[in-house]
Amino acid sequence: MRLQFIGSGDAFGSGGRLNTCFHVTGRSCDFLIDCGASSVIGLKRLGIDVNAIQTLFITHFHADHFGGVPFFMLESQFFSKRTQPLLIVGPKGLPDWYERVMETSFPGSSKTKPKFELTLIEMEPGETRSIAGVEARAFQAEHGHPGGGGPFFALRLTAEGKSVAYTGDSEWTEGLAEAGRHADLFVAEAYFFDKKVKFHLDLDTLERHLPEIAPKRLVLTHMSDDMLKRIGTLPYETAQDGLVVEF
Ligand SMILES: [Zn+2]
Ligand SMILES: [Zn+2]
Repeated sequence: MRLQFIGSGDAFGSGGRLNTCFHVTGRSCDFLIDCGASSVIGLKRLGIDVNAIQTLFITHFHADHFGGVPFFMLESQFFSKRTQPLLIVGPKGLPDWYERVMETSFPGSSKTKPKFELTLIEMEPGETRSIAGVEARAFQAEHGHPGGGGPFFALRLTAEGKSVAYTGDSEWTEGLAEAGRHADLFVAEAYFFDKKVKFHLDLDTLERHLPEIAPKRLVLTHMSDDMLKRIGTLPYETAQDGLVVEF
């Protein structure tokens, strides 16, 4: 399996990085984890065939994780001329959020029926679903009031015998350990180095829990300037836009 960071940034353009979007491919699976506002730009910059993407797995409805959906949909309809079905998987409330983000971005677009089959799949925390060759498990993340862009997920996705887990945006909670435990690849938010803020994860806190998570490989993402200025001095792999990780 292969994961390429399309976007490894936060919501604020820190370091000039694009919003969260990871492209995961294997022998037969092809999916995105999150689709932040800049995702289509990032995918095109890297020459990725957007029509081959089968599923968008969404951790939460903030624009830096979900705001790329309208661009993805319109690009698929009018430029790539997609015919293959598309699945979007996210927390409960996905159909409402889908309509809201489409209408806000391109008024009228939520009423335009795409020429391909679109299926929206809502998941609950603790649920496991088999979706287009991927076993998806959702875990409760702690990223604020559910009305503020949630519910919030950490995700663990297993395909072709390999597992990739992603914390999403979250302060420390047991669900992050469950999601990442012994994962072949664990992509974790490290928003700050050691500063504690509500609803986000800092490296110091993550580090204290690493022994119980024990991922086979760890890559840090969603870093603010506080973290980006320390890159090169950290004993961990850090994401950057375009980085490819084989796992
Ligand atoms: Zn975010
Ligand atoms: Zn967020």
